[in-house]
Amino acid sequence: MWIMERLFQIAIDGPAAAGKSTVAKIVAEKLGFVYIDTGAMYRSLTYKALKTGTDLSSGKELKDLLDQTEIQLQHSDGGQRVIVDGEDVSEPIRYQDVTSHVSLVSSFPEVRSEMVRRQRKLARSSNVVMDGRDIGTRVLPQAQVKIFLRASVDERASRRFKEEKQKGMHPSLEALKEAIALRDKKDMERDASPLVKADDAIELDTTSLSIEEVVRAILQIVKERSPR
Ligand code: C5P
Repeated sequence: MWIMERLFQIAIDGPAAAGKSTVAKIVAEKLGFVYIDTGAMYRSLTYKALKTGTDLSSGKELKDLLDQTEIQLQHSDGGQRVIVDGEDVSEPIRYQDVTSHVSLVSSFPEVRSEMVRRQRKLARSSNVVMDGRDIGTRVLPQAQVKIFLRASVDERASRRFKEEKQKGMHPSLEALKEAIALRDKKDMERDASPLVKADDAIELDTTSLSIEEVVRAILQIVKERSPR
């Protein structure tokens, strides 16, 4: 690990299924940084809201629920585990029901403010690689490295299709394409911290790049920006 005057922050933003978490996890591992998956935090609240029958159209009810919810991102050999109020929800937060409601839950400013407060707190004690939608614009605007990952909808849907097939699921490519495009639209069109590239973010189009190539490109940028 480097000796630095201030903690080093890498922000990775981009649309749904652009490979952010896969790449962020590897970059964090290679650098000995902590990986923080902010999407998992919004998914955790959505999961709990669905489970408790909370009104998903009420920002106030969702914020009250969040205030009573502990979300922990634990790091294990098998990757990251997401623990909500002591329950391991790593798998259920990826289910379709959560995925199709998470953009609504994350659209409320009161929910976002509390999530941002928690995310900044997590970034205060270690060097981090944080991925999401508003990391470079809102959560960590001072991050030394900001990356915006893009890929065509077709490419993103086909990556998700392969992932789901490998897990023994029976996905439909067309349905995945539609769901991804709809989630992007909602995330880009919301009023509170919409998905947008930060002016000073470096854009990487990963459509025809392998995971290794994207990781290499990010590590090179980090190297150029790190203190000598
Ligand atoms: O990254 P992931 O696809 O798991 O994120 C799930 C959803 O959480 C996004 O579609 C978006 O609605 C929301 N999100 C957000 N801000 C973040 C991270 C995720 O609004 N920083």
